[in-house]
Amino acid sequence: MIVAMQERASEEQVQQVSMRLFSMGFEVHRSADNRQVVLGVVGEHQTVDLADIESLPGVQKVHSVGSNYKLVSREFRPEGTVITLKGLAIGADEVVVMAGPCSVESREQLFTVAEAVAQAGARCLRGGAFKPRTSPYSFQGLREPALKMLHEAGDRFGLLTVSEVMEISQIPVMLPYIDILQIGSRNMQNFDLLRALGKVRKPVLLKRGIAATIEELLLAAEYLMAGGNYELILCERGIRTFETSTRNTLDISAVPVVKKLSHLPIIVDPSHGTGSREKVAPMARAAVAAGADGLIIEVHDCPDKALSDGAQSLYPQQFSELMDELQPITAAIRRKLA
Ligand code: PEP
Ligand code: MN
Repeated sequence: MIVAMQERASEEQVQQVSMRLFSMGFEVHRSADNRQVVLGVVGEHQTVDLADIESLPGVQKVHSVGSNYKLVSREFRPEGTVITLKGLAIGADEVVVMAGPCSVESREQLFTVAEAVAQAGARCLRGGAFKPRTSPYSFQGLREPALKMLHEAGDRFGLLTVSEVMEISQIPVMLPYIDILQIGSRNMQNFDLLRALGKVRKPVLLKRGIAATIEELLLAAEYLMAGGNYELILCERGIRTFETSTRNTLDISAVPVVKKLSHLPIIVDPSHGTGSREKVAPMARAAVAAGADGLIIEVHDCPDKALSDGAQSLYPQQFSELMDELQPITAAIRRKLA
């Protein structure tokens, strides 16, 4: 249930309505823009008469949200969520580009790529330290030393950092070094991990599962929000279909679908979405045109020697050309690159 307070409701009225809902056994999550307070009410409310709540002083309207994701739903924050992090706004008018290697392989590799993507206009450095690999014999990541390198490279080139957390025990190890914690597609429904990250006060980038519907993605996000972490960014990274010409099928339509259903920012990963270098730029352009709030793109200075995902990694020069191509596309939809 969503309780929209009147624009002129006093703080005391908001408190009274919240207390009343608490006493009925509900959890109450509060959201406010500069006009109005909205309460997201979670719990079983089949037996509650919505009209009773609507008659409380200061209440404007009570909506019963039909879906099981309530805090993630657009109704909870009609104006949309903007995550502000060290001066960068994600989910606002500006389109944010995150880029970097699939895996952190060495200090030299990371610093070379970080410098190139920063120069081309990326605002956030990606790089895997803990790698979920299909084969146990593939490179599994440099782990903690990679986190330190990401932190240093981010500092040096003025980039935020994003890296994947694969399990709960890695969370405290990552917190000192990483600005945005990525939940990979293989872990989208790792409910214990979602619950643990719900308690963290750091933005989370939640990738769509390989075989997940959009509703399942939004329900995974609901776990995080119900735990109290409201700083979420969703990521469309392609799903497995019967099509074999691409590594995955990048569902660009997820962008407008999520925008309608949810207030959360959504970015697109055209690297994992397609699996091959020459398809990354066309899909990145399409994603921005479709309204994505950002992109996450794999870039490597020497993709032929990459320890993971070389075939889908852009050369720095290609990345820089793509950034130029995105300018007129953002302008056409009255946005800008961040
Ligand atoms: C990655 O970002 O390198 C990655 C493994 O992504 P995904 O979880 O989308 O496969
Ligand atoms: Mn990768």
